[in-house]
Amino acid sequence: MSPLMSGSTVLVTGAGSGIGRAVVLACAGRGMSVAALDVDAARAASAADEANAAGSPRAVGIACDVSVEASVREGYDQAVTALGGFDGVCANAGIEINAPLHEFGLDQWRRVLEVNLVGMFLTCREALRRLVEAGSPGSIVCTSSPSAFVGFAGGGNSAYAASKGGVSAFVRSAALDYAPYGIRVNAVVPGATDTPMLVTGRDEAARADQLAHIRSVASSQIPLGRLGRPEEIAAAVVWLLSSDASYVTGSHLVCDGGLLAKSANDF
Ligand code: NAD
Repeated sequence: MSPLMSGSTVLVTGAGSGIGRAVVLACAGRGMSVAALDVDAARAASAADEANAAGSPRAVGIACDVSVEASVREGYDQAVTALGGFDGVCANAGIEINAPLHEFGLDQWRRVLEVNLVGMFLTCREALRRLVEAGSPGSIVCTSSPSAFVGFAGGGNSAYAASKGGVSAFVRSAALDYAPYGIRVNAVVPGATDTPMLVTGRDEAARADQLAHIRSVASSQIPLGRLGRPEEIAAAVVWLLSSDASYVTGSHLVCDGGLLAKSANDF
């Protein structure tokens, strides 16, 4: 893989929106082929269309639910058939369900863990199987969260935090196991990033109000004074995927405007 990765191929999950979509477009702009996988087939297809328009040699949209073993296998099959293989994977698909823990349903808990943690395992296992069998090096980047490292009070965030804590522990362990194969495994840690995940309001007006509130909190509480942009997270992912990061494995690249560096107490 060249440092700028032109000519290489990347598979992205959760590619239809937010950070995943920005990764698809960042890869396309650097001359890479991209498989854009998302549970929402229409979003996957439109991300691929945009990537083709942005200069990707070949981008394909593929419907894939990362929480379903057969769907992940078929998603990789389709990507490899269309693009001939892959050099990097951005395992990014995720969901967030927030509610007070004492009211949290077992089905909700399972769903968060199934998409965020089981889905991460299935996505990475499929990549590792194929890379090991081909004797190829590769780079895998998993999307974690500040919730893996610190608690956010009052947000009913426990299931999401547990899933992302699992992702971060998984990344460290997998990195050690696959270093002898030349396969690097790292995590990106986006802070509060301006994507549809950030707002949960039902209608347009409620979402707009919620976003305005979040932006105002961000301006006072995030050291850089604003939310992150998906393209800023994508730039970090592309660096981790590239051979510019050839000596980086088992690492977390924190892109959070300084959030995790800050103590809650100002003395
Ligand atoms: P988003 O909601 O904009 O995009 C998530 C995408 O994942 C959607 O296109 C959705 O259809 C897809 N998806 C959901 N379930 C799926 C499944 N089972 N299989 C395949 N695709 C599925 O969210 P985003 O903010 O871009 O989040 C991307 C990742 O970044 C997630 O893992 C999220 O936890 C993480 N993250 C986001 C933030 C943030 O502030 N936005 C912060 C930290 C971490």
